[in-house]
Amino acid sequence: MTTTDPAARIEELRRRIRRHEWLYYVKGEPEIPDSEFDRLMAELRNLEEAHPELISPDSPTRRVGGAANSFDTERHRVPMMSLDNAYGTGDLREWIARMQKIAGEHVFPIVAELKIDGLSISLTYRDGRLEAGVTRGDGRVGDVVTGNIRTVRSLPLTIESRFDMDIRGEAWVPRSKLAELNHERLAAGEEPFKNCRNLASGSLKNLDPSVTAGRGLRVTVYDIAQARELGFTSHWESLEFLGRQGFVVNAPARLCRSFEDIEEYISTADRLRKELDFDTDGVVLKVDSLALRRELGVTAKAPRWAIAYKFAQEQAVTRLQSVVWQVGRMQITPVAVLEPVELGGTTVSRASLHNIDQIREKDIRVGDLVVVEKAGFIIPYVVEARRDERTGTETTIEPPEACPACGGPTRVCREAEEGIPGAGESTVVHCTNAACQGMLARRVTYFVTMMEIENVGPQLVERLVSAGLVAEPVDLFRLRREDLLSVERMGEKLAEKILANIAKARARPLAKVIAALGIPNVGAVSAEDLAHRFPTFAAFRAASADQLLTVPGIGDKVAQCITGFLAEPANVAWLDRLAAWLIETPASEAPTQAAPTLAGKTFVITGEASVPRSELETLVKRHGGRVSGSVSAKTNYLVIGSLEGPGYTSGKKTKAESLGIPIIDEFGLQSMAESGNAPGGEHA
Ligand code: ZN
Repeated sequence: MTTTDPAARIEELRRRIRRHEWLYYVKGEPEIPDSEFDRLMAELRNLEEAHPELISPDSPTRRVGGAANSFDTERHRVPMMSLDNAYGTGDLREWIARMQKIAGEHVFPIVAELKIDGLSISLTYRDGRLEAGVTRGDGRVGDVVTGNIRTVRSLPLTIESRFDMDIRGEAWVPRSKLAELNHERLAAGEEPFKNCRNLASGSLKNLDPSVTAGRGLRVTVYDIAQARELGFTSHWESLEFLGRQGFVVNAPARLCRSFEDIEEYISTADRLRKELDFDTDGVVLKVDSLALRRELGVTAKAPRWAIAYKFAQEQAVTRLQSVVWQVGRMQITPVAVLEPVELGGTTVSRASLHNIDQIREKDIRVGDLVVVEKAGFIIPYVVEARRDERTGTETTIEPPEACPACGGPTRVCREAEEGIPGAGESTVVHCTNAACQGMLARRVTYFVTMMEIENVGPQLVERLVSAGLVAEPVDLFRLRREDLLSVERMGEKLAEKILANIAKARARPLAKVIAALGIPNVGAVSAEDLAHRFPTFAAFRAASADQLLTVPGIGDKVAQCITGFLAEPANVAWLDRLAAWLIETPASEAPTQAAPTLAGKTFVITGEASVPRSELETLVKRHGGRVSGSVSAKTNYLVIGSLEGPGYTSGKKTKAESLGIPIIDEFGLQSMAESGNAPGGEHA
């Protein structure tokens, strides 16, 4: 402000702002308060406005440009190859042995870097200026996202070096930023972002750089494609060079001189990664010597001199090899057949794809790299496809025309989602063959589970069905000892025990019987409510739609499901036979109408509580609340059982935390149901 030459003052301001940006975003050690920084920016902006002829594209004020209509694509001068994966130290030892075969004993030092779970990008600097930012794309051609990349304030728009080079890195969003943005989105009634990677990807590929600028993107660099041409002899040297040029380099990188060094780095990283402000799914290991890298060369898909070690975790990325259609109790559902992958300590080769709607919505195709998640004791499911890693050979997934169990024709239609009243409709596939053995076995297994008949597993049921001994659930009650012994090798004692268990089931409470019928959209909780309203099996069977609607939690759709099911001639016949076997005890007491203290609230329950989960669900429903299986913007409370056993899903907790959803325990839930007040202490 004291200087009279605006050009000199502008240069001075730019230099100071760049330095403070570097101190703040790269070093994380700001020297001046934000207000002071803002003042420098304002002064620069004003001066540039007064002297537009002095504006240059690398000015700190020029980070955010105008919106685009679409992205151009650009071919990478040096392809961005993917890396082979390692899932344990065994894989790493094999990798090192493979390299030693080619290059001799001395493959160390090896550089270990954290593998940040973001989006890979290539940054072209020419004559000291950031000229282009291009996404990895398919590794050969990517989207030009220069306008968006320029908004990343940890990334220098100019560097001292005049070399023409492509710098490779990862664009990512801090976890804290995800939480902050989701908080705002929820307050505004918008869908929250799913995870950091999605947020980074969506932000980098947004057509409006001003949107990208508000998303807190960071870029960490880890390679120069032309390192050898630039005269470097080791990877470590090029990382040091990048640091000097003002980039954020993979800071905790380590030069490992032995296998023990690698193991130590991995175990430390694995231990600390939950506390980091970014998602990391592993460690990248690279041979340090560039001459040795050249000698080792590349395979068709990956360099031999690098490998990505993946931490064991609840999410994994693997290839979707095919889809099998599994015949269930009511419908035929798609199951993903995966390239086996380590997930939460077990090898997973199958995962649920839910239904055809989910497949279409997520655009999942055979051949895709997919993200698989394991939520507690529930079977793993496919979260999403990595569409940006497609090669073009992927094929779409279509429902089968013939039933995989009996070969009968299938029918595709829209129906209310199973077991979730009011959750909307989904497209389902049915077998039209009423005598389909596949469906029958599933129905009988369901009956056995809901009636809590012990020692009768799905395999025994399948054998009984295919031997023609069981054609409907009631047939279980007719089984004799020799029937059991004829289908499965078992001791006489076990056979006796099974028969006794089956006989005991005849006296199950009405709620269990109703649940076991397999009425669409009537699960254990609704069955419980129905049993409270109707004193006997006969009374339930005679219920009109109007009567059903007086039951709390039973709406139009479910009432229709029930009356439809009970009126169907085929069902009438077997329910008659079932009624003859049941031993009914009079209902203990009339249901007490609970106060609707939880009305309008949605709860997600996870973990092992001191009472069965179904009881907590009943508690919520009885007090007018709703129970949902997954945490979303609509969730009001996440209930974590006080025992945190095998059913505990930390993913739900993380998600609830990122969405700012209060977390309570079972006792908190109980006191809330009693008083209607949110439990104090933990959340405002
Ligand atoms: Zn069938």
